Amino acid sequence: MGDDRGMTTIARSREDEEESMKELKRKVEAVLKASSWWERTGLDCATLAAAFAICLPAGLLLLRSSDWPRWLCGLLLMGVVHAIVTVKGAHLSSHGALGHSLAAKRFWAIFFIEVCSSFSARAAQRAHINLHHPHTNVIGLGDSSTWKLPRLPRLVYLFLAPLTLPIVTPVAALAQLGDTSAALLLRTLALILLGVASHFWLLMAVSGFQSPLGAALCMLATRSMFSLPFVHVNIFQHIGLPMFGENGRPARLLQMSHGVLNLPRNILLDWTFGHSLISCHVEHHLFPFLSDNMCLKVKPLVSRYLADHNLPYQEDGYLSRLGLFFHKYQELMVAAPPITRLAGIQ
Ligand SMILES: [Zn+2]
Repeated sequence: MGDDRGMTTIARSREDEEESMKELKRKVEAVLKASSWWERTGLDCATLAAAFAICLPAGLLLLRSSDWPRWLCGLLLMGVVHAIVTVKGAHLSSHGALGHSLAAKRFWAIFFIEVCSSFSARAAQRAHINLHHPHTNVIGLGDSSTWKLPRLPRLVYLFLAPLTLPIVTPVAALAQLGDTSAALLLRTLALILLGVASHFWLLMAVSGFQSPLGAALCMLATRSMFSLPFVHVNIFQHIGLPMFGENGRPARLLQMSHGVLNLPRNILLDWTFGHSLISCHVEHHLFPFLSDNMCLKVKPLVSRYLADHNLPYQEDGYLSRLGLFFHKYQELMVAAPPITRLAGIQ
């Protein structure tokens, strides 16, 4: 009898949460409907276009300079362009946010993920869209365990290993395509090579590098410039938060409000990684169809709604999170995470 009452309470709570999620979605969709095309997609597309049309040529030309401060500005600009294209561009395109037709969405995903980011669009779809988003913090599915390398000491993992990402990424992409067709494997390999070769050619032909080794080192510096924050952001926003078992997962609103964390706004990371990966990660997990700019626009609405419904809206600073992972590396990144059961606590 007691068990029956408990189940009813949990069932009603889940229904309430699902109803709340629908209500929040209606409010967000109303904001979306009232927003202009520029707000919905234009600003994010313009940011990506400006990275290609303005920042990339400027960076390449500054790298021609024999004046060190100007040359360093060129290198920094190339790193910023690479981060905008490979993090913001690849992430938005993986969600199909850069096109209306299926063909356009597919084209941009392949362009940003394979040509620009040296990864596989198929593997990104599987890991990010099919697993991470629907199964956020569900153990064995979307628990961020792919980011754990327990054999590495914390200093190596947090500050050195990310620098190898430009080399590790294409190798990992091809390894993950082992169970797919040879044609897909060849396409991905060809597009990754096209991206790397284009980058190398631009440095030799436009920036005037005389030595292939110099151009290769410049490419490596550009491509690894934002790899530390890239790895940090990926682990900071989920690991260490409540984890759920596959059978005991809570309703979506509870799952995302407990299992996702926002970092504060940061002008460099806002524009390179995008709001949905920095200060609006909660909003992005609740509404993955929103662009970066729309995530920012609905942020006050979402945070107020969660507060009004006594749900957490988790936020923490970058350095605070880095300190936590540094001091609790063993617990967070090596040991298995404990499962949290949320049913009935609200
Ligand atoms: Zn996403």
